[in-house]
Amino acid sequence: MEIQINGLTELPDVANKLLAFAGGERIFLFDGEMGAGKTTFIKTFCKVLGVEDSVSSPTYSIVNEYVGENDTVYHFDFYRIKNIQEAYDLGYEEYFYGGGICLIEWPERIEELLPEHYIKVEISILSESGRSFKLTKN
Ligand code: ATP
Ligand code: MG
Repeated sequence: MEIQINGLTELPDVANKLLAFAGGERIFLFDGEMGAGKTTFIKTFCKVLGVEDSVSSPTYSIVNEYVGENDTVYHFDFYRIKNIQEAYDLGYEEYFYGGGICLIEWPERIEELLPEHYIKVEISILSESGRSFKLTKN
């Protein structure tokens, strides 16, 4: 499914559509160049998931943990990961297969560790505030 939006106010609509599209799938990959809006969208998606904590990209670690309405939500940003060993040290398996919801920025940095099934969200920049969201299921 592809959704085009013209501004930030349309993000809640995309977030609700993504939740419906996911149909219970718990691993979400977010692709898109720097500044595409991965973190911005994840903030809105977390609200839909009932997260009341403040959501921002993990700065000092790779993963942030939030409390959602029904689930624990793990927000990863693998941009600064140096090697795959760091993901093992982090204990990625317990996150990916532990039953929580995983929202993953820069998943291509840990490609070989990704689970078999996931929802992919590809964000493209159309204009200053225009974005396209392509949702696919693997
Ligand atoms: P990085 O790879 O550096 O983590 P990112 O993909 O997470 O980048 P954001 O940090 O979310 O990107 O930044 C996106 C920027 O684009 C923000 O400044 C945001 O306000 C702006 N923006 C403008 N329009 C939109 C839109 N429709 N959807 C999402 N972000 C938008
Ligand atoms: Mg980001």
